[in-house]
Amino acid sequence: MTKRTIPVAPFDLVIFGGTGDLARRKLLPALFRRDLAGQLPPDARIFGAARRDISGDEYRLLADQALLEFVPVGELSAAAVARFLARLDYRAVDFATGAGLPALADAIAVSPRDIRAFYLAVAPDQFARACTQLAQAGLVAPGSRVVVEKPFGHDRASAAALADAVGAVFDERAIYRIDHYLGKETVQNLMALRFANEIFEPLWNARHVDHVQITVAETIGVEGRGAYYEQVGATRDMVQNHLLQLLCLTAMEPPVAFEAASVHDEKLKVLRSLRPIGAADVAACTVRGQYRAHNGVPGYADEVGGGAHAETFVAVQAQILNGRWSGVPFFLRTGKRLRARMSEIALVFRPASFHVFAPNAGPAPSNVLRFRLQPDEAVQQVITIKDPGPGGMRLRQAVLDLSFSSDLGLGDGELPDAYERLVLDVVRGDQTLFMRRDEVDAAWKWVDPIIEGWAERGLMPELYDAGGRGPDGAMRLLHREGRAWRDIV
Ligand code: NAP
Repeated sequence: MTKRTIPVAPFDLVIFGGTGDLARRKLLPALFRRDLAGQLPPDARIFGAARRDISGDEYRLLADQALLEFVPVGELSAAAVARFLARLDYRAVDFATGAGLPALADAIAVSPRDIRAFYLAVAPDQFARACTQLAQAGLVAPGSRVVVEKPFGHDRASAAALADAVGAVFDERAIYRIDHYLGKETVQNLMALRFANEIFEPLWNARHVDHVQITVAETIGVEGRGAYYEQVGATRDMVQNHLLQLLCLTAMEPPVAFEAASVHDEKLKVLRSLRPIGAADVAACTVRGQYRAHNGVPGYADEVGGGAHAETFVAVQAQILNGRWSGVPFFLRTGKRLRARMSEIALVFRPASFHVFAPNAGPAPSNVLRFRLQPDEAVQQVITIKDPGPGGMRLRQAVLDLSFSSDLGLGDGELPDAYERLVLDVVRGDQTLFMRRDEVDAAWKWVDPIIEGWAERGLMPELYDAGGRGPDGAMRLLHREGRAWRDIV
């Protein structure tokens, strides 16, 4: 699987925020694993940069410890680690003042590679200033590109201001807005299954699909980030980006080609086809929730210390106004402190139109095609089969595993992490799995009126038990039309 690797061209990658959580937990391990797979050319260089005043050796030690902590021990041969660490260097940089950027520019200029990537793994309020200062320090050359982590703004207006600031320095084709969900193998497999197999695409429409459920459930709470979360809430944190991106990939028309512009165009059409939800229908189409203390687990209000207004859970019934999806609800749900960590896209098909079997054969429930993103990536088809044995025709449900782990010779944890794919896409200059400015704008355009509608209607979050399934209102959202959420397991 990971064996078919084509080395990328030589590059300089600067990870701003190179000492932070994202760099340690995701970026350095991802780059190490790509190096291990033979995909990094000998002269690829990686610079860490942050305010901490440490030497190159101290940074290599930090990176070594990150690998020990976040890479499976079986992959950590001494030779591979040494080769990777030899690519690393570090410069102290402070975006508040611009200090250190000239020294970084000098270090790169000693032997500049044609491809230069800046990964902004710093707080979002640094993004705009960082871009300006990179330009002022003369670091932005032809072939330069920048990676921006979510959140892309707080609402439509702030996202536009941020896009203007980044766009003043980098051309849109050099801006990589990352949503790591799009780098997951299963999400890419969704597109492969749809567009490379004749058997799925004919079923992918309102005639055969009853509804779609997209769930991102977390067991963790706000983990000490209460003050930040209180300003954000689940809708801005998860729906505006991850859940809407998953909805787009599920619902979009086949792109002309699997390349950035065509895929972005199709995703944008989906976002523009979403029926607006505002003050008039937020109560009917959305549910806000907030976890409360249960079984010794503290509630959100305990964690933020009073005045807790943000939703830690949200469910939305979305509707796509186009021919393919007319009348098919897309139910989106995300929440913290739920009973299990689970992210999935589930297409629930209509029941068989005619039941030819005797009543004692049992029911033939709807087929479900399920793309599980975490914790274990998998594609599964729930189908109805005959219960084996001589006892007559009895029906039962079975799960057909379309992950093909054994065919592909995949062991546990062998799927590449999303960041492995995405960081190298930045180097390759492939924006297909990133977000374009107009997509981000269209997503905010749909999300903002929901949030404003709650404020206008004074809709406060409904409390749910920590470790549970979410608020009862979310259950009713589906029950009223005779449907039910899939279990969070
Ligand atoms: P973090 O652990 O707080 O790291 C922030 C990094 O920025 C540190 O290396 C910090 O080092 C550096 N930094 C802070 N102020 C700076 C300044 N003025 N100039 C230069 N460097 C500065 O944050 P994180 O969790 O890694 O998140 C980084 C970004 O990724 C954020 O935008 C976040 O929203 C996004 N993100 C993170 C994750 C994740 O899993 N962690 C997931 C999705 C998105 P010094 O203090 O030494 O300067």
